[in-house]
Amino acid sequence: MANSEFGYVRNFEQPDALPPSNWIVVRIDGRGFTKLCKKYDFEKPNDRRALDLMNAAAVEVVRSFVDVVLAYGQSDEYSFIFHEATAIFERRAAKLASSIATAFTAEYCMQWSEFFPDQPLARPYPTFDGRCVCYPKRKILRDYLSWRQADCHINNIYNTTFWNMVLKGGMSNTEAEHALKGTVSADKNEILFSKFGINYNNEPMIYRKGTAVYRSYGAGPAINGVSGQVKTADAASKTQLEKEKKRKQKASIVVEHVDLIGDAFWDSHPYILA
Ligand code: ATP
Ligand code: ATP
Ligand code: MG
Ligand code: MG
Ligand code: MG
Ligand code: MG
Ligand code: MG
Repeated sequence: MANSEFGYVRNFEQPDALPPSNWIVVRIDGRGFTKLCKKYDFEKPNDRRALDLMNAAAVEVVRSFVDVVLAYGQSDEYSFIFHEATAIFERRAAKLASSIATAFTAEYCMQWSEFFPDQPLARPYPTFDGRCVCYPKRKILRDYLSWRQADCHINNIYNTTFWNMVLKGGMSNTEAEHALKGTVSADKNEILFSKFGINYNNEPMIYRKGTAVYRSYGAGPAINGVSGQVKTADAASKTQLEKEKKRKQKASIVVEHVDLIGDAFWDSHPYILA
């Protein structure tokens, strides 16, 4: 097949292997979800069914890609963290991003009816884009996750205040937008409390913190590592790697709404970024 007179066209392809010893983040994001929310009447500011569907799709993606050590999701996005030593797809960026985005899209569409039984999917079907970013140090990877979680918080406190002003406070969208211009988090906390009797800190964790998905190994020794190292493994360590892969496939997958910015989560789960 490769040896025809046409085979030379392969040389036009660009290599896109990501550098070794970097944590690889594949972030997927729903295409045109602002429209999709309206089409299926998502509850504002947060539609719980839609978040549960995102999380259910992410669990299956984590299950099928054993080199994913953690996934973090909020709104219509999910970040899948591949171990720094993964050799999956020879670390080719386009293969990674497209495989994760399509696996996620397939799960999202196939599981849709379980979460929205009264609203059958209609074209245009939901799709997700995907991109890869490399982080050369654990510290920077943690800052990446903190960045996404801070984004979740900032958007959620804004949206919670905005939609209370509109739905309960009788303001128009433009009035609420205008009233919130230039406010900081403390102002929004105050508006929520004094006008709507809401203590923002009592809002559900899933809305304030987003969702983390990772493997849990119960009582056994926690492991990490990858299914195939970048350097070719010898026969003995190959069996070892196979064993580890099986163990990961058997591990239970945890879905949690937890703070990732402080040290507590990382101190209690040291194996995740080991
Ligand atoms: P793009 O294709 O560029 O990503 P988009 O319309 O998807 O365009 P985003 O920036 O990704 O733009 O924004 C996603 C939108 O979907 C936000 O407005 C967000 O509030 C909304 N959204 C996502 N999930 C939910 C949910 N569970 N409940 C309510 N709204 C949601
Ligand atoms: P990769 O994930 O690397 O792409 P792959 O197993 O998909 O691995 P391909 O090189 O893409 O490898 O090969 C696809 C395989 O599927 C081939 O063996 C091809 O013969 C088979 N295949 C694809 N479409 C059909 C079809 N319509 N009928 C029968 N066999 C098919
Ligand atoms: Mg093929
Ligand atoms: Mg976007
Ligand atoms: Mg989007
Ligand atoms: Mg988004
Ligand atoms: Mg193929």
